[in-house]
Amino acid sequence: MKNVFKKPDAINDAVMHYCPGCSHGVAHRLVAEALDHYGITERTVGVAPVGCAVLMYDYFNCDIQEAPHGRAPAIATGMKRSRPDLIIFTYQGDGDLASIGLSEIIHCANRGENITVIFINNTVYGMTGGQMAPTTLPGQKTTTSPYGRSLTADGYPMKMAEMLAPLEGTSYVGRMALDTPGNTLKARKMIFKAFDMQIKGMGFSFVELLSTCPTNWGMSPTQSIKRLQDELIPYFPLGVLKEKEAVD
Ligand code: SF4
Repeated sequence: MKNVFKKPDAINDAVMHYCPGCSHGVAHRLVAEALDHYGITERTVGVAPVGCAVLMYDYFNCDIQEAPHGRAPAIATGMKRSRPDLIIFTYQGDGDLASIGLSEIIHCANRGENITVIFINNTVYGMTGGQMAPTTLPGQKTTTSPYGRSLTADGYPMKMAEMLAPLEGTSYVGRMALDTPGNTLKARKMIFKAFDMQIKGMGFSFVELLSTCPTNWGMSPTQSIKRLQDELIPYFPLGVLKEKEAVD
């Protein structure tokens, strides 16, 4: 029988620095399981963001390149074009990807770069102290929106998956939540599919993971899961938004 508690080989024994109840550890594990499944760890390079996942090079057994301030898709583009034999993924939060890196991610997707992007959406800047992110929900209180996000003053939360899916360069776009075991298994399937698309040379693949940030939400891990279910999922619908068919 398969031991579901076995640690993926693509992740090491280091104790992760993430807060209790944070989704990053689960997301890391799912990526590592994909690397194990396809046997690609030795030829994979991850690109780390600025934000709480900046230290992800401490946890994966593949190579990791640091690319702060939203530049991960540009760095990934350079690596993939110069070494198309490598598997390249970026791992980015909402501040990194949807704010300071918005231009990079849109143009990378539009060019159809053959890379995989894992996007962590927890509706807040994590590492820098809980400021309002592009994904912050209407009325959500953050350190820079103490009275709640105002749609008139601050605009609407950005739905990155919906924004990227219509671009002709994208091959696969999906969004899932890391709340229940069932949804986590669906997220795993999406991540596997995204790497599979890259292995087959299908172009840009993107998986958005609705995630928790108990520390900056000011909640317990259990309350955070409930908020994810009650507030994030209704605003950011789950599912596969786009999947290109392979052409023989
Ligand atoms: S601040 Fe939030 S996103 Fe960062 S490690 Fe803690 S819970 Fe996770």
